[in-house]
Amino acid sequence: MRLFERGRIGTLEVKNRVAMAPMGTNGLTDIDFGYSRRLIDFYAARARGGAGMIITGAAVVNTTLEGGISHFLPRLDSSAYMGRLSEFCDAIHHYGARLVLQLTAGFGRVNFLQNNPIPPISSSELPCFLDPSVSTRALTVEEIQTLVVSFATSAGMAKIAGVDAIEIQGYGGYLIDQFQTSLWNKRTDEYGGDLDGRLRFTMELIGATRSALGPDLPIIFKFTPDHYIEGGRTMEEGLEIARRLESAGVDALHVDGGCYEVWNRVIPSMYEPPATQIELAARVRNAVGVPVIANGKLGDPEVAERVIGEGKTDFVALGRPLLADPDWPNKVKAGRLDEIRPCIGCNEACIGRGYEMKYLSCTVNPLTGMEKEYAITPVEARKTVLVIGGGPGGMEAAAVAASRGCQVTLWERSERLGGKLNLASVPEFKRDIRPLTEYLSREVERAGVEVELGREATADLVVRKNPDVVIIATGSVPRLPDIPGLEAGNVFSMVDLFQERKDPGADVIVAGGGLCGCETAAYLAGREKKVTIVEMADELMPEGVNINTMMGIHALLAQRGVEVLTGARLVSVDRASALVEVNGKTRELKADSVVTATGFAPDLMLRDALEGKVPEVVAIGDCSQPRNILGAIWEGFHTARVL
Ligand code: SF4
Repeated sequence: MRLFERGRIGTLEVKNRVAMAPMGTNGLTDIDFGYSRRLIDFYAARARGGAGMIITGAAVVNTTLEGGISHFLPRLDSSAYMGRLSEFCDAIHHYGARLVLQLTAGFGRVNFLQNNPIPPISSSELPCFLDPSVSTRALTVEEIQTLVVSFATSAGMAKIAGVDAIEIQGYGGYLIDQFQTSLWNKRTDEYGGDLDGRLRFTMELIGATRSALGPDLPIIFKFTPDHYIEGGRTMEEGLEIARRLESAGVDALHVDGGCYEVWNRVIPSMYEPPATQIELAARVRNAVGVPVIANGKLGDPEVAERVIGEGKTDFVALGRPLLADPDWPNKVKAGRLDEIRPCIGCNEACIGRGYEMKYLSCTVNPLTGMEKEYAITPVEARKTVLVIGGGPGGMEAAAVAASRGCQVTLWERSERLGGKLNLASVPEFKRDIRPLTEYLSREVERAGVEVELGREATADLVVRKNPDVVIIATGSVPRLPDIPGLEAGNVFSMVDLFQERKDPGADVIVAGGGLCGCETAAYLAGREKKVTIVEMADELMPEGVNINTMMGIHALLAQRGVEVLTGARLVSVDRASALVEVNGKTRELKADSVVTATGFAPDLMLRDALEGKVPEVVAIGDCSQPRNILGAIWEGFHTARVL
């Protein structure tokens, strides 16, 4: 396979074309933000899994000029961090992989603002992305030069510690990009104005880094040739920048598209198609002679192989696919494709948790970020385990318990494993969930779980079976709103819709504008229905959803022409219409049907019936508390991990 041919960046030989993409490693550092053993274990698992090159998340070179996020990322602004960085380098090198350290000059206008005593900085005075009422402060020329010196100092320390290359974080609307881009750079001094001026900071950083590294250690520059927003960079300037970066001596270009305003396209949401950024990378590759690294939903091995084979990129950088399965490269190389745990593009544990200042992990792989702490070990005493319910939580619990040596039986009432995953993946824009259902079903089988489909559990049957442990993962039930007319046949839940038990007709109201309601509305609108969402809160998704998913679903709703009524209450439903109160006024909406997406309720009847009748009973996932896929898989994993 072309993916596993050797590659080269400047003087550096890389054993294959698979790089781990730089991802923020929130919460994994030591308390002083040095490289912790835990962070090293996290990256070492990806090196052991076969990635040829590990590109780290950004490390901070200066913590005096900028606060906020810069105080949560790994640091390299002092020699105190070098020892641990050298340990990190060794751990990666033991597996024959290369360590590329990404350095950041700062976040500027896209910084996190919570608890930040230092005013945000940028090239100019600009409204901050996360809170436009807060303005950045324009860096002085002296401060810019201080940053350049800091960058070179950190690069020099990294070289001594043993890194193989430096990547400069010049993309995505971060601070360096805020200097490069006329949309954000309003300076009138030598660091602003025309492209020469706007690239001065970039060129000084490259020059200083080169001086610190010497001629032999490569510099990779990650940049954005197209911001995908009005007023941002377009391809013409992007290609010119690529040529200038090459002339300045960078050894490879890491290409990314977009910026925070369209973050769902930078780190693609579930709703985006595969290989979102590959054409961008291909155009840059045609314009320069140095190797190109591409990213953006390249986790399907066929796609990754194809883009290398077609010469669209020299390396594929995989971020989230390697969070989901660190062994992706080795499994692909060995042809064990059906053993790959697939990333579903949910952005919950990798992105969403970052905004909550929780440690980096992965919805489908709770081991991520806890490689040693949560390692699966054999059980001390073999137990018989009955898992009831074959959704994600039940399948995960069954597979983990069996892999630990328990004798596990799984009862599923329907004729098919998957539970709510089967419903969640009905919309074509949620196709990324389907491989997870298939993977978990195979894992259950591989682990030796005895699966009984079409098996409805009752307390009597369970007691008769007499297992040591019962894990109940039977899922939740739709919660229905209390509305006059609800009993009419044209009101039904999204579960009925996705099970194709009901025909929604041409005009549909979706009651509830949480993420499930929004996805239901987008699905219906994609089937030529006229759809209106009625949500009581003042905005959609009041429950809170990670930024990429939120941007992605908003874009989809707009694209499909879904009407959104927020601050609205469904008053009553009739055969062909519904009354909705919006801002104190009542409106009548045509409605062939009302699809309810008003949440789910737990269902603990079976657990309660078994309490005291079996040695151990535990309810996991939605049946104890309705949540998302992360809640189900993590609870299944941990319940089985500590049996
Ligand atoms: Fe992929 Fe979701 Fe895991 Fe992130 S949390 S790596 S998007 S499966």
